[in-house]
Amino acid sequence: MTSQASCTSGNRHTSRILHRQWLTKDTFTLTLERPPDFHFQAGQRIHLLTGGKTRDYSLIPGDRQDQLTLLIRSVADGVVSPHLSRCPLGTALDFTGPSGHFIYRPSSRSAIWIATGAGIAPFVAMCRTGIQGFVLLHGVRHDDELYFRDNMAPAALRYVPCLTGVSSSLSPYAFPGRVTDYLRHHFPEGAYDFYAAGRREMIAEVMDIVDHRFPSSRIYSEIFF
Ligand SMILES: Cc1cc2nc3c(=O)[nH]c(=O)nc-3n(C[C@H](O)[C@H](O)[C@H](O)COP(=O)(O)OP(=O)(O)OC[C@H]3O[C@@H](n4cnc5c(N)ncnc54)[C@H](O)[C@@H]3O)c2cc1C
Repeated sequence: MTSQASCTSGNRHTSRILHRQWLTKDTFTLTLERPPDFHFQAGQRIHLLTGGKTRDYSLIPGDRQDQLTLLIRSVADGVVSPHLSRCPLGTALDFTGPSGHFIYRPSSRSAIWIATGAGIAPFVAMCRTGIQGFVLLHGVRHDDELYFRDNMAPAALRYVPCLTGVSSSLSPYAFPGRVTDYLRHHFPEGAYDFYAAGRREMIAEVMDIVDHRFPSSRIYSEIFF
């Protein structure tokens, strides 16, 4: 365990892991010290540097001003995410950033937020700035993976969990299928601002659906993998 205080040099910052909370068997939040003078816009990410590898993670404001939160899925055959799931509290982490342009842009069109899995992270950050009235489609396998549901659902005009797993406990309010199935078959035609974060395949499919069904809309995207 190290005791290095969080600090900043140019665009490079050093932080420490304060807390880890498991939300499901493979996904956890990591609370980090927020370096003094580190500021970001909701939806931006950091570029984490660890063990000679670099990986991006979306930023969520911490419960306290001096903290940052990451929502991380530990990928079974991955390198960095399993390390982050196991390393001791107090471990120093270097990162650069913030970076990225996946930020909320108010407009006269309704905002439709679409996430798969940990792709919910940038939307949690946006929601914490006080944005309300969005429609949120969150695609996961089972309802225990609907991370931050208690924060997101009350702020949303409509919150649609899209569950792809075979489950006997399908919530009555959930859509049994992919976010793209919901968008293709159940979403009213119109002009919207779509924001999509998560798997590359999901985002490509959303773009295709928007082209065909919602041609006067805009789409902003953040590909995780
Ligand atoms: C802009 C951006 C923002 C990101 N934000 C987040 C975030 O907030 N939270 C988060 O958990 N990840 C996020 N990622 C993904 C993250 O950067 C890493 O790719 C991920 O943690 C896997 O790294 P790894 O070293 O463990 O696995 P790697 O060794 O890099 O990859 C192993 C395999 O896992 C696949 N993979 C990567 N991510 C996932 C996943 N989530 N589910 C299933 N398979 C996956 C890879 O395609 C590869 O085939 C983001 C990526 C980008 C580009």
